[in-house]
Amino acid sequence: MGRRGPQPNPNSRDNVKKAVRKRDGHKCTECGMTREESRARFGRTLDVHRLIPGSRYTLSGCVTLCRECHKTKPKLKRRQRSETPRRIGIRADLAKALALMAKRNNRPVRMEFNRIMRMAAQAAGVWPSPQDED
Ligand SMILES: [Zn+2]
Repeated sequence: MGRRGPQPNPNSRDNVKKAVRKRDGHKCTECGMTREESRARFGRTLDVHRLIPGSRYTLSGCVTLCRECHKTKPKLKRRQRSETPRRIGIRADLAKALALMAKRNNRPVRMEFNRIMRMAAQAAGVWPSPQDED
């Protein structure tokens, strides 16, 4: 493979979180709470919130929030968690686009993915036979 030993991965979850907090000046982007205030009040440092629930941690896709502001943000429900793009296993940038389309069309991600696949398959002329249409 020609790879060197284990390298620190700048895209690892922890490193992205660190970079997000640093970019945001170690303050909550909503109420301005500092890291020190967060430690004093909640016994922990500031949270990193993903703008698209269930997406990968990326610098552009995350903001720093205090625990209090983070609590007000929507979370994925258990049922939705199994449908995150990450679990479907597609590229991160495509997954982000898919999540945005699903949100815009108000469909679960899996349904949106299947809809797009069907359109692509039909366009490519490889959609099986007409009786397979639902
Ligand atoms: Zn806050």
